[in-house]
Amino acid sequence: MLRSEQPAKHLPFFKLTEACGSGQCPLCRLRSDALESYLESLVYQGVNDRRFRAEFDRTYGFCTYHEHAFLAKQDRLAIVITHRELLARALAQTVPDSAPECSLCKLLEDTEQQYLETTEAYLHDDELRQAFEDSPGLCLPHFRKLRARLRETPSWLEELQQARLESALAAVDEYIEISNYSLSDNLSRLSKPHLRRLPDTVVGMLFGYNPDQDAGR
Ligand SMILES: [Zn+2]
Ligand SMILES: [Zn+2]
Repeated sequence: MLRSEQPAKHLPFFKLTEACGSGQCPLCRLRSDALESYLESLVYQGVNDRRFRAEFDRTYGFCTYHEHAFLAKQDRLAIVITHRELLARALAQTVPDSAPECSLCKLLEDTEQQYLETTEAYLHDDELRQAFEDSPGLCLPHFRKLRARLRETPSWLEELQQARLESALAAVDEYIEISNYSLSDNLSRLSKPHLRRLPDTVVGMLFGYNPDQDAGR
């Protein structure tokens, strides 16, 4: 694509390139940022918002994962206020049989789609490419979702993803080998940053960095 055909750069582009510097898959990071800012605004001002409350009641709260994410915000009053109606309905036995879609899951799904579109739109942009090359690459679920949208995946991206998997595999082998020796100086080698974070990196790379994300399996 010619440079002149590329869309003008707006906020989503800059958020995407910034997320490449987060030390994890940029799409995973944008998803967790969206969750964080939603819950922050909910806790600080949203629980009395009438539209939010109507939707929260209609969907009978969030899914289990996002209920616990809300709970972890430690705003006891917000939790009590928003769940009063749900408790009353449990008492009246009018809880829906099948759980309606969690509005937070939907929001995060939309956010993910929006950034997949942004990634696709700028894949031939040098600035985005550089940001990706300086990043840990995409997690496998996001790479597969992106690839499913593209007619052709640029070779630099395929190579980048392969290189990230190869270095993770080499680090896993290094980790296992060091663990086979019980000498204390060998074990201290496991505290090297890339090895200390290795279990998180491996699970993040293969399944995504968020526990609430659809790995597409
Ligand atoms: Zn990801
Ligand atoms: Zn949810």
